Amino acid sequence: MPEGAMKAWIESSHLSGANAAYIEELYESYLDNSQSVSAEWREIFQQLPKVEGADVEYRHSEIRDEFKKLAQEPHKTLVVSGGSDAKQVKVLQLINAFRFRGHQNANLDPLGLWQREKVRDLQLSHHDLSENDFDREFNIGSLAVGQESMKLGDLYKALKTTYCGSIGAEYMHITSTDEKRWIQQRLESVQSQAILSVEEKEEIFKGLVAADGLEKYLGAKFPGAKRFSLEGGDSLIPMLKQLITRAGTQGAKEVVIGMAHRGRLNVLVNVMGKNPSKLFDEFGGKHDEILSSGDVKYHQGYSSDFVTPGGNVHLALAFNPSHLEIVNPVVMGSVRARLDRRDCNAGDLVLPITIHGDSAIAGQGVVQETFNMSQARAFKVGGTIRIVVNNQVGFTTSSPQDTRSGEYCTEIAKMVSAPILHVNGDDPEAVILATQIALDYRNEFKRDVVIDLVCYRRHGHNEADEPSATQPLMYKKVKKHPTPRQIYAEKLNAEGTLAKARTDELMAYYRKLLDEGQCTVEQWRPMTEHSVDWSPYLGHDWDDAYDHEISLDKLKELANKVSSIPADHHVHNRVRKIYDDRAKMASGEKLLDWGMAENLAYASIVDAGERVRITGQDSGRGTFFHRHAVLHNQDDASRYLPLQNIREGQGPFDVHDSVLSEVSVLAFEYGYTTAEPSGLTIWEAQFGDFANCAQVVFDQFISSGEQKWGRLCGLTMLLPHGYEGQGPEHSSARLERFLQLCADHNMQICVPSTPAQVFNMLRRQVVRPMRRPLVVMSPKSLLRHPLAVSSLDDLATGVFHNVIGEIDDIEPSNVERVVFCSGKVYYELLEQRRKNEQTNIAIIRIEQLYPFPEQELQKQLAKYQHVKQFVWCQEEPQNQGAWYCSQHHFRAALPKGGYLTYAGRAASAAPAVGYMSVHVKEQQALVHDALKVE
Ligand code: AMP
Repeated sequence: MPEGAMKAWIESSHLSGANAAYIEELYESYLDNSQSVSAEWREIFQQLPKVEGADVEYRHSEIRDEFKKLAQEPHKTLVVSGGSDAKQVKVLQLINAFRFRGHQNANLDPLGLWQREKVRDLQLSHHDLSENDFDREFNIGSLAVGQESMKLGDLYKALKTTYCGSIGAEYMHITSTDEKRWIQQRLESVQSQAILSVEEKEEIFKGLVAADGLEKYLGAKFPGAKRFSLEGGDSLIPMLKQLITRAGTQGAKEVVIGMAHRGRLNVLVNVMGKNPSKLFDEFGGKHDEILSSGDVKYHQGYSSDFVTPGGNVHLALAFNPSHLEIVNPVVMGSVRARLDRRDCNAGDLVLPITIHGDSAIAGQGVVQETFNMSQARAFKVGGTIRIVVNNQVGFTTSSPQDTRSGEYCTEIAKMVSAPILHVNGDDPEAVILATQIALDYRNEFKRDVVIDLVCYRRHGHNEADEPSATQPLMYKKVKKHPTPRQIYAEKLNAEGTLAKARTDELMAYYRKLLDEGQCTVEQWRPMTEHSVDWSPYLGHDWDDAYDHEISLDKLKELANKVSSIPADHHVHNRVRKIYDDRAKMASGEKLLDWGMAENLAYASIVDAGERVRITGQDSGRGTFFHRHAVLHNQDDASRYLPLQNIREGQGPFDVHDSVLSEVSVLAFEYGYTTAEPSGLTIWEAQFGDFANCAQVVFDQFISSGEQKWGRLCGLTMLLPHGYEGQGPEHSSARLERFLQLCADHNMQICVPSTPAQVFNMLRRQVVRPMRRPLVVMSPKSLLRHPLAVSSLDDLATGVFHNVIGEIDDIEPSNVERVVFCSGKVYYELLEQRRKNEQTNIAIIRIEQLYPFPEQELQKQLAKYQHVKQFVWCQEEPQNQGAWYCSQHHFRAALPKGGYLTYAGRAASAAPAVGYMSVHVKEQQALVHDALKVE
């Protein structure tokens, strides 16, 4: 439609800027379904001019833009053209105002302490309406109440009940009309009131009895002991039980829950079905699992089954450290692994639930990262139910004005247009309705949704804490405030749903269960549903023998496959050259480089029917242009992955460029590998030092998860490392930090130096049944180093050498000095020694720094028992690299009379210099030092 004509129409209809958003909504709805708007609006929209000669509606974007422009203009009065009643339009505006802003005047705070301004848009007078109009019948547009018109009085009441009751729904920020309409339908059709049977109400009540009963019992039995009580947020228990039951009824087979410490004991006993007697034992200092460190009771995970009308649902509560929100990506990763195993891309079969604190969800950046991941190809899980236990006190003592800048703690959810249902925790029926809507929304649209359970914290941060010292007014109120169980009991008694005798009986029954130490969850079942058997992976160590054979014929066959590109898939010239070279490597014309060996490792794994998953920044191509596992067609941008075309029935090969984050991606992959022992899972850092941003995941999960929680994890981390003059930030993967975390054989730290080594290292991680994290200092320039090449025969040995001895023809009896090293510096030492024609120096590479391969090193040193001079050569400054953490291992291996010295950079605050000339000088000096026979 010509611009002028549209403008003229809009102006002639007196539709003002203030109404633009609403009319836009209405028009969108009309375009979807003309019957969804009132006859009056239908008539107006039908009168809109059409594009000349075309039988189609004019573009909605044009109208929208025009409305936007008008929205900037001062308010004009809206009068529907044709002389009809101007109030009709005002009524529609009023409905829209409640949809947009009703939540701001909803009754959300159980303590009634929130001071919220009256929202003008929700007042009749703001819309030139008054109680005098209450008896007039108006068209109600798309209000989903099953009728076309209502008296204003009834409408106003319905709007207040729907949008300003115990549920405050924020959803008008959602851009999808379908989703908005869906939510409107769910809320408006029942005026935000749950329709519940007597049995359902009793079930809710039982949940509150359990929540309250356990805390009181623990408080009485173990006074002053830390339990991080749920009290105040009791509705969480019926909410979780409702979620699981409904999810199971709708077909879910597993639910994975992540939460911090607050309320965790309650969830463990009253949802997961942990036997209370076990918990009491833990309070008494007893434990039945012998782990090398173990963990406190409020960080423990749990697994069980839960019966629902749709069958048993397996429940897994993730173990978590006290780092609050970091468990969220772990849960998502665990869910993704379970979905992949069930071949369920949509997400129907496994439900993630993450439980947040109000300050943590607003304060911690990892929350934003997980929202950002929620629809990304590599990480989507079909939507997460995110529950905020909003007790209005941050960690120990902070008030909302100190912990956030937004109106609600949940603002971050809007970045992915997630609906947010704020709900008053003292109204458990509203909580159940919000829960039902949230789950159904997640299952319908496969997107994240937030339930903000507005509640309070009955005690201090822990039970020994005195909250009145810092929150005097709040705690004055809390002390007098009845518990959710008391409030609901009174309601049920008063409405005659449950007699007092019955509510008392249910409380006594719960107490009896605790006294007898019996499981309190009727729906609890022993585990049958979980689909992985971890027993083949238990009890192994890194030096166990394993079947590493791979035949040369198989390798040649795979080499041909990974180097073939379909004729009609036109790749970039530089990629073509790499693949041409790979074809030569396959035919034996050329030795294999790093990229080829790595791709062959993946090929051999998927050929054996196992899966490979790689994520990281640039992982498809490889940061340094070496992998090219994904081939982009230059004609149409289509993708071809040779590794997905190895053979019919092969294992899945998934490589994804990740979102631009380290911490949440690594946590996700940790979650993935703790839920999936088979195959190879790799996280790759763009540069090794970026792993810094994920330090919490290394410290709290990867290095200590097995020792604290008995949870194995076979994750491999490729961290590019090497001193090539790229400055302080891109030289070091901070090897020393990983070595410092090593004990109890908790993880492996490897520095492979040849293509055959990377091939066999990656295969070893899958073929050997041990599942422990593998941290790899992976190369950069070595990817293309002319000496860093291997033959197919080298690969076919199938063995990863933890130590590699001298490769040149050096007579051991002539050796006066032995140099130990790892990584790229080896080639510099080798070349320099060859240049110097030194035949009295042997170089030994330590390819696995932890667990330290003592026996293999001893074996290599057997021929150098006469040598006195041993030197550890490293590129890193002396306070970094392996020197301080590993020298005791080197020393222990020396022959009698031998001594160890250091050749490397001087201690330095920064990992590397930023000036190329200084870098070169330092590098030459350390190589020179290492080769200087004394
Ligand atoms: P889940 O499916 O996470 O509830 O786990 C079910 C059971 O599998 C647990 O009770 C453990 O016995 C075992 N299991 C799960 N994950 C691991 C793991 N990462 N390492 C060892 N055993 C595990």
